[in-house]
Amino acid sequence: MIRMLAASLLLCGILSAQKLRIIAIGAHPDDCDIKFGGTAAKLARAGHAVKFLSVTNGDAGHQSDRGVSLAKRRHAEAQESARRLGIAEYEILENHDGELLPTLEVRRQIIRAIRRWNADIVIAPRPNDYHPDHRYTGTLVEDAAYMVVVPNVTPDVPALRKNPIFLYFEDGFQKPYPFHPDVVVAIDDAWDTKVAALDAHTSQVYEWLPWVDGKLAEVPADAAARRAWLSKTRTGRLSEAVVAALAKRYPGQTIRHAEAFELCEYGQRPKVDALQAMFPK
Ligand SMILES: [Zn+2]
Repeated sequence: MIRMLAASLLLCGILSAQKLRIIAIGAHPDDCDIKFGGTAAKLARAGHAVKFLSVTNGDAGHQSDRGVSLAKRRHAEAQESARRLGIAEYEILENHDGELLPTLEVRRQIIRAIRRWNADIVIAPRPNDYHPDHRYTGTLVEDAAYMVVVPNVTPDVPALRKNPIFLYFEDGFQKPYPFHPDVVVAIDDAWDTKVAALDAHTSQVYEWLPWVDGKLAEVPADAAARRAWLSKTRTGRLSEAVVAALAKRYPGQTIRHAEAFELCEYGQRPKVDALQAMFPK
């Protein structure tokens, strides 16, 4: 028992001191920023290597712009967001927005990306979501979760020798089962950075998303005013499960903004304490 405890403490120590390589995979070039931007900024500040990957190029997400013109614009916005977050890389694959399918071809793209990044941790959506691109991104990453270590699959990029940890972004969907926060990170100290990163996605946060929600008239014209509006409208209520998990990790602290992640049953399965210790407080 003592030996096990010593081993797990050692593991915690090693993992917290180790520089991690993290790849977050979203369907669109703003999904990772929305779900993981604050934690990504904190991980980057702590010296870890963080990459965002968008599986589609976002070429459908606008009410008046489209195609190559929109994809270019969103590419530039994503690069600016990465710069503001301080992360290492923001890659965008050339699959069409709104048309993603869990094909073998896209699975191979994801296997290659995880291997090339030599990822310790992979974060993606759960495969239950209102948007088919999000849903299939979740499925594609789950389908890659074992294949990344199989050398005969996609042999043009060498297989990983250790399986990464796979995590899910938080979501509010209740069926077939509600999200479980295995890792919670308070991001009050990175909230302004996260809002600045979201602010870089002008075509989305000030144009497309308010338009599709029928709220375009609410968006202030002035740059500072609209960033304040963004911060206010993006401040959601934390779920009961997240509040309970935060109380355990940050006893006695009042936390306004947080991000949470659930451990996937595929890939490497660390003890929850060791997993939590890998994330900055
Ligand atoms: Zn999306």
